[in-house]
Amino acid sequence: MITILPDEVANHIAAGEVIERPASVVKELVENSLDAAANQIDIEIGMGGKAYIRIIDNGHGMSPEDARIAFERHATSKITSTADLASIETLGFRGEALPSIASVAKVKLLTRPADAVAGTRIDIHGGNVIHVGESGAAPGTFIEVNDLFYKTPARLKFLKSPATEVGYINAVITDEALAHADVGFSTKHNGREQLHLPAKSDLLQRIAGLFGRDLARDLIEVHERAADFELRGFIGLPTCHRANRNYQKVFINQRPVKDKTISHAILQTYDTLIAKRRYAVALLFLSLPPELVDVNVHPTKMEIRFVNSQSIHHFITSSLRKTLGSALNASVTTSAPSSAQQEPSSQSVQPPSSSLLQPKFPTLSSPIPPPSPESFSASDTQWPESPPDMPSGRFPPQRFSRTPEIAKVPSFPTSHLHIQPLPSNRGRFATMKPIGQFRETYILVQDGDDLCIIDQHAAHERIYYEKLKQQFSQSGIDIQQLLFPVSLELSHREQVALEEYLPQLNTYGLEIEHFGGTTYLLKAVPALLAKADHKKLLYDIIDRLIETEETTDLDHIFDAVLILMACHGAIRAHQPLQQSQILALLQQMDATEYPYTCPHGRPTFIKLSERDLEKTFGRA
Ligand code: ADP
Ligand code: MG
Repeated sequence: MITILPDEVANHIAAGEVIERPASVVKELVENSLDAAANQIDIEIGMGGKAYIRIIDNGHGMSPEDARIAFERHATSKITSTADLASIETLGFRGEALPSIASVAKVKLLTRPADAVAGTRIDIHGGNVIHVGESGAAPGTFIEVNDLFYKTPARLKFLKSPATEVGYINAVITDEALAHADVGFSTKHNGREQLHLPAKSDLLQRIAGLFGRDLARDLIEVHERAADFELRGFIGLPTCHRANRNYQKVFINQRPVKDKTISHAILQTYDTLIAKRRYAVALLFLSLPPELVDVNVHPTKMEIRFVNSQSIHHFITSSLRKTLGSALNASVTTSAPSSAQQEPSSQSVQPPSSSLLQPKFPTLSSPIPPPSPESFSASDTQWPESPPDMPSGRFPPQRFSRTPEIAKVPSFPTSHLHIQPLPSNRGRFATMKPIGQFRETYILVQDGDDLCIIDQHAAHERIYYEKLKQQFSQSGIDIQQLLFPVSLELSHREQVALEEYLPQLNTYGLEIEHFGGTTYLLKAVPALLAKADHKKLLYDIIDRLIETEETTDLDHIFDAVLILMACHGAIRAHQPLQQSQILALLQQMDATEYPYTCPHGRPTFIKLSERDLEKTFGRA
């Protein structure tokens, strides 16, 4: 016998999908407040949300009739037909949240539209209406959710400690607060104020409020547009990275989402700029016509589906590359001021005491350990701070705005430079004057008033990496047949790994043949690598293939192969160079897209200005 489920049961099932934990309640209620055009949302949590969750907004409130209907299943004011589903602009639309929450907790609602004389109060416990009536209420809506899951001990048991649940709640609030910088948010846990984010913030202010000013300082603004798409937000300089992806957030039409296409685009953009297992900071907002994205894929609406994910991927990578490219160009330039391109405000003088977003560096008196390339990041820059008498114009003063001068905030290795945008990097290195080589490892060159120290291996690696990549994507990698093939004896494991990728390696210029038994012959290599140690190169590549056994991302694997090739082909440290070789290297640096880091993400050069030296020697 088939029966239609009573609403109470249906709500319970829906609650199972939508309301997983206190954080889901917060998400649904905050989104309702946002849909109600609130510009102040206060959130109060008790015991990680297990005791109570209160959301107080100053939105448009509900009439007595609407308040009553709001708890009915599929009651929504946001869509009326299937056609509306194609162009959803509100955060909610299913009409499931309120009935679901009310079916698994004790809910108290107080609501009043600003123009109504009286408000409405509704109490619902476990889906049963306990009380409905007129009540005094502030304009807007107050919802209190008590004793979540009180009727379902099994689900209650599944919840984690209050601290963990608060963590989930904060993650939700962070997303919503980022997506709605204009809305004020405050949070309290067990009566203690936690967050206080003022309304009418701009995005960078909001980011600073949530993640701290140190992070905000290392961000570059993104604003790109293509036919249907618009991308806004902030991304980190390559020197600004984190150990996990928590600082990568993506919003589509203001809705926080988890999306593989965009995550991959971010990964790819920074791939060779940031060390392995470190993650770029990226807070991105993509706007596109609602019909090009399906938000109705997942009950909690975290996952979405693009109509054309390939074009999104392309748009994101090209936008990020462009932004990053011009920011890096802007930050590594000579001291010659190009005032026309700089906003006057960014040259205003800031007293040293105003530490608002001032870059933090060790002081001059602190020991200066050699920069450790492995641990390179903006926050552990090992570079002496300029003394306090330094004209602060050298570090562009920060202010909260969306204007691009934030983009010019330097970060090591460029932090001691005058930050002026240059139209292009082309020809810059070629104009530098070689001084010589230090320990046959570093090239010293004069760049205007600056002393530039180039890591010859890192720089050459960058050059080779880009050359190989370019050849590969255009006509194919130029190869050179080896006069004497190199023979390799492989273990079983190595053999398996090599066999799997043999055809691909061939397209990367490595001609390898099975000779018999466990012996393989390397017969040709990329021409750029003619002088490398081929045996070592191949063993390194096979090691890498074994390491990436779990990975299915071929692009990633073969990028690693390219990086290895570049590394093997590049001039080494402790290798003497002729003047002509130094000049050639400088010229080739100009031909690269990102001369600033090697493909492993380490810096290729650092600079000291004449002024830095004068200060160090006490001349200034
Ligand atoms: P949905 O958000 O999917 O429409 P909900 O169950 O979350 O469904 O809410 C049902 C309805 O109740 C909403 O469509 C809205 O009209 C009303 N509502 C809910 N919360 C608020 C609020 N904070 N302020 C004003 N109206 C609200
Ligand atoms: Mg809703």
